[in-house]
Formats: sequence, structure tokens, C-alpha cells
Amino acid sequence: MSYTNSVLKMIEEKYSYQPLFVQAVKEVLHSLEPAIKANEAAYKQNAILERMVEPDRQIVFRVPWVDDKGQAHVNVGYRVQYNNSIGPYKGGMRFHPSVSLGEIKFLGFEQCFKNSLTGLPMGGGKGGADFDPKGKSEQEIFRFCQSFLMELFRHVGADIDVPAGDIGVGAREIGYMYGTYKKITRLPEGWITGKGLDYGGSLIRKQATGFGLVYLVQAMLQEQGTCFKGKTVVVSGSGNVAIYAAQKAMEFGGKVVAMSDSSGWIYDKDGVDLKLVQEIKEVKRARLSEYVKTRKSAEYHDDGKVDSLRLWSVKCDVALPCATQNDIHLAHAKELIKNGVLAVGEGANMPTTIDACNAFLATKKVLFAPGKAANAGGVATSGLEMTQNSMRLSWTEKEVDEKLLAIMNNIYKNMSTTAKNFKDPINFILGANIAGFEKLARAMLAHGVQ
Ligand code: NDP
Repeated sequence: MSYTNSVLKMIEEKYSYQPLFVQAVKEVLHSLEPAIKANEAAYKQNAILERMVEPDRQIVFRVPWVDDKGQAHVNVGYRVQYNNSIGPYKGGMRFHPSVSLGEIKFLGFEQCFKNSLTGLPMGGGKGGADFDPKGKSEQEIFRFCQSFLMELFRHVGADIDVPAGDIGVGAREIGYMYGTYKKITRLPEGWITGKGLDYGGSLIRKQATGFGLVYLVQAMLQEQGTCFKGKTVVVSGSGNVAIYAAQKAMEFGGKVVAMSDSSGWIYDKDGVDLKLVQEIKEVKRARLSEYVKTRKSAEYHDDGKVDSLRLWSVKCDVALPCATQNDIHLAHAKELIKNGVLAVGEGANMPTTIDACNAFLATKKVLFAPGKAANAGGVATSGLEMTQNSMRLSWTEKEVDEKLLAIMNNIYKNMSTTAKNFKDPINFILGANIAGFEKLARAMLAHGVQ
């Protein structure tokens, strides 16, 4: 049995109760096979894969909070500090009822490779809680964030571990957590990114993951002699990543015809009115179903579950899954391929199942940009926020956007060159994973067995 397969078998046996984590490890280890083979003895002797798949530490804690009626509740908080060989742990925090240790481990594991790919000095980590912010009052959100930080503050810091937002954690939650950390530690420091512009945040951070996704997909299309202009685009989700991916795709001349939330999806043949989507999701925090009340010509379908086939049956040239994991299953991939999709860019983390990824790769034609590369613009701009905080200055919007574009082009070049070097030129899953892995492995080997 190959070294890669033996590590995978160990993970499958040991963590069978964490299916998302096993899925993420499987996808990465399979694609690393050629790189591992080229240097197997050294990697094996230093247990490089065993050390990469096992986090440095996993912090699990109780988060008690009191609702507006005086009733106490308890949620579980997590911070998984995965690997800091390249720099301080870095990765977002997710508040969603689905959150479990396995989900946070999957996200933290992916983050190590993604952060390595950005070229910035950032290690990998992830955190969150099984708390559902939906339907909670402002004060309940505040009390939850405060309680969460009462424990988390011990484990994070500007040079130790720098969290950010993710599903359910946006500007409001980050503000409350930043305030609590400052209150406890008296340190108004950059221990978290995605901060408000008035207290150390970076311009473009809010837009960065979505913009970065479109920059990378544009680079991928351009190498094949085409671009977004005139292309029909479908975006899943209508949250932070989805909204700004849709905005940039439109700026580049694409026509976004469908978007979704967890209750349903809209189809607007004339092109989605993004200002209206923003008003509904960012201002009113309401359901996307509101859209058709204003845009009478659009359609609303109430099958919002991520495994619903119908969103992905809308004919498009570019598909941008930006909602959550396991959104595109094999059946969806087949439908997209049948409808002539040119490119798929993963804005979310692991939105495509392994079978579906394999179906895209098997076409040898569909350009598939994996999340580790395609959605790295968010963490890259968080890295730029950390730099600005350390330098105690703020760059202009133009400066940050130019740096983001350069980073995304560089990530594309890196994954594309790596794929070519391994004689599988449009297998960007292989390209991104190997490029991220090799830098991380070199750093770990340099540090000795730790
Ligand atoms: P948001 O919470 O802002 O938006 C998530 C969107 O996806 C919402 O429209 C939400 O619907 C929908 N959604 C969430 N869960 C489900 C589900 N189970 N079924 C159907 N729809 C669902 O999150 P982000 O935009 O920040 O994150 C989206 C994805 O991108 C995640 O995978 C995240 O890990 C990844 N990512 C985010 C980065 C960032 O900078 N924010 C950076 C890199 C990756 P509803 O409105 O109904 O809740």
C-alpha cells in the first residue's frame, strides 16, 4: 500500500465519525499522490502526512448565554489550531447549528493549504460554534459573542492565532468579539480580521473572497482565450461571498441569472438586480423570496436545500458555488456538463463532492477551480489587514484591490504551472493541492519533527 493510502486508511478508521473531515483529507491526499511518490522516503520517515492531518491542538468549550426572556442556553465553541509552520494560525469562525468538531477540522485542514497558496506568512486554523444567529435579537447576539470570547481570548492573539468571519459571522459579530477581547485584555490589537474600517479593518476585505474568486476564474478563462464578458453565470448563496462574486462577475461583463439562500433560489432571465439582493440580505436580513415582490418578471423556487438539483439545472457558462459544503453533487455536475458549462469556481469551501469533482475533471475540458485557490482572496486580504495593523497604517481601496488581484493571478499561475509540471495541465485540484502542500512540507521539514 502506498504511503498516501496508508495514511488515508488510518484517518478513515480513526475518524469515521467525522465524515466531512475524512472527505477533505481524501480529496487532498489522492491528488498529492504524484508529489509524495517523488519524495516518499523523506516524507514517510518524517511522518509528514500524519503530522499534517492531525491538528496542533483542538480547543472545545462551553458557551453559556441568556436570551431576552431570561432563559439560559448552552452552545459548544471550537477553535482548531491546525498548523503554524508558515505563520500564525489563521482562519474564520462559523456560527451555524451544523458546526461540529469534524466540520471545523475539515475547514482547518483545507485552510492550511489555502493559506500556503496565498504566498503570505499564515498558518491554518478554524473555529466556530453550533449557535444559530437566525432569529436572535441584537442583544442575544451580543451576549453570545461576549460569552464565546470569555474563553476564546486565552487562545488567540495578533501573533498567535488570528480568526476572521465565516458563515454566520459578519461585521456585527466581529465588532462584538473585538470589543470583548479589548475589554478583557486592554489590547486594541489586530487579533481578528474583517474588522470595521473605524477600528483597524481593511478596505476591500468585505468584497475580497467574491472579488478574488472572479479574478481567479477570469485568469483561468483568459489562459483558454476567453473571459467573463457575455457569459451567463449562476451563483449559489446570497451571503458575503456570493454577493461580491456576483458584483465582480457583472463588472467583468457576465450576466448573473440565478442566486439562492437556504430557503430557495431566484431565476431572473434579465440578470439579477444585485442592489435588490443586497437590500434584502445585507440590510433587512430577510429571505430571498422577497426578491420577486419587486421584480415581478423573476421566478422564485422554494427548494433551497443544497442538494436540490434545480438551481444547477439552470443553463450557464460559469457556475460559482458560494453557499456551503457539498452543494454540487454528481447529478448536478452531470447537468452542468450537459448544459455546456465552461468553468466552475468554488467560492465556498468544499462545495463540490468528490464524485462531482471527478466528473468535471473527466471531461478534460471543464475548467474547475478548487476552493483552496479560488476563495483564497478572503484570507489573503485578511493577511493584508494584518500587515496594515502591524504597520499601523491603512492602504487605499485601490492599493488593496491591486494587491488582491496580484495575489489571485499568482495563485492561478502557481496552480496552473504545478498542474503542467505534473503532466495534468487542467487538473487544478492537483495543481492547487500540490503547490500548497510543497511549501508547507518544506517548512515542516526545516523545523524538525515537532
Ligand atoms: P454567509 O453566511 O454570508 O452566506 C452563506 C450563504 O449560503 C447564505 O446565502 C446562506 O443562506 C447560504 N447557505 C448557508 N448554509 C446553507 C445550506 N446548508 N443550504 C443552503 N444554503 C446555505 O457566508 P459566507 O458567504 O461568508 O460563506 C460562504 C462559503 O464561503 C462558506 O463555505 C465559507 O466557508 C466560504 N468562505 C468564506 C469566506 C469569507 O471571507 N466570508 C472566505 C473563504 C471561504 P441564508 O441566507 O438562508 O442563511
